[in-house]
Amino acid sequence: MNAAAQQQEQRATRGLPPLTITGFKVIATSGGGNYHWIFLKLLTSEPGLYGIGSAGNHFQPFAVIAALEKHLGPWLIGKQVDRIEDLWQSAQYRTYWRNGPINNNVLSGMDMALWDIKGKRAGMPVYEMLGGKVRDAVPCYDHVGGQDKESALAAVQKSMAAGWRYIRVQYGAGGYGGGGFIPAGQGTRPEGGYQGAAFDEELYVDTIPGVFEYVRSKAGFTPKLLHDVHSHLSGMNAVELSRRLQPYQLFFLEDVLAPELIQYYRQIRQVCTTPQAVGEVFSHPYEYVPLVTERLIDYVRCRVSATGGITPIKKLATLCEYFGVKTAFQEGGDNDPVNLLAAYHVDISSTAFGIQEENHFPPIVHEMLPGTPEIRKGYLYGNGKPGLGIDLNEQLAAKHPLKEAPRGGAYPTDRTLDGAVVRP
Ligand code: MG
Repeated sequence: MNAAAQQQEQRATRGLPPLTITGFKVIATSGGGNYHWIFLKLLTSEPGLYGIGSAGNHFQPFAVIAALEKHLGPWLIGKQVDRIEDLWQSAQYRTYWRNGPINNNVLSGMDMALWDIKGKRAGMPVYEMLGGKVRDAVPCYDHVGGQDKESALAAVQKSMAAGWRYIRVQYGAGGYGGGGFIPAGQGTRPEGGYQGAAFDEELYVDTIPGVFEYVRSKAGFTPKLLHDVHSHLSGMNAVELSRRLQPYQLFFLEDVLAPELIQYYRQIRQVCTTPQAVGEVFSHPYEYVPLVTERLIDYVRCRVSATGGITPIKKLATLCEYFGVKTAFQEGGDNDPVNLLAAYHVDISSTAFGIQEENHFPPIVHEMLPGTPEIRKGYLYGNGKPGLGIDLNEQLAAKHPLKEAPRGGAYPTDRTLDGAVVRP
């Protein structure tokens, strides 16, 4: 760096000395349960100053660990901490082939850690550096379900009584697609074929609207209700379910289509006004950019740690703002508190915010990750500390290492009566 550039840098950093990445740690833990959490801790040339990011991938954690330890980590050594955007861009192009979940997980670990460091250095929470608060706390939606209409209603009423205003209602036994499964062994099946519970699209489309009709008739229209199809429908069945749910005024219908079928959102738009939320399995911007810019959806559901961290998610929120689309960042029970906090900092500082998926953690997680955010009466609260506002007790994490998962950690496969695969 020449003398003029050095002076400019000094002015920009208020005379703080140049800061470089001097080391990294990959910390993988079960969180004291069955989580598959991976954190990247970046160490800097300032003693005691470090950042933490989430690189979580529930289904392929060991691939992410290798990508961090063997590839991204060594590349980061000696790099300048201040240059988050430059590091994000150059880290993305470093692998030549970019995007995809593993690459975005490792970028996310780096990016969140860099924002954490910048905030600590500035003495500010990350949301202050993103423009400051535009709301007082972050509204979240609750998860409930019922085995029948009555228990679904009871679950909604219990959630309302606990202070929740936004409530996602799932139905039927086990997993997603409840209401659309033919029980194990029943139905007309191929000889010697698949005998497990079998998903049936038309059965699902016939069942779910009746659940919401019942809940609305008893609970009224005060609760904001959501439902997640988890990509189980195809083509016109997705259009038809969206149309049949219109009278029950959902806050949003989630992933009525898989990423492979997103062109059908045009057809949905032509027949009904049920708001559409999409994108928890997206990892490439080209999956969500056309949906946002053509206004084919209402909420973008990306997971921060699957899309590369705060830097790209903040850009996505800004893109959404200009097109009237909102954000509804994904959490899910497998996610970690660092990821939830990264979403929080964008949520609380973005006018494109729509809703945040809730996540809550057992006491051991609050002990392992001091600063883990809390939800009270449907609102998520951060702690206002500099950076992301969270730390990691490495000794406790080491006592709870990442475990090998059955079947290599694979997501369970749903099938139809004839044994064909259903998209999750
Ligand atoms: Mg979902």
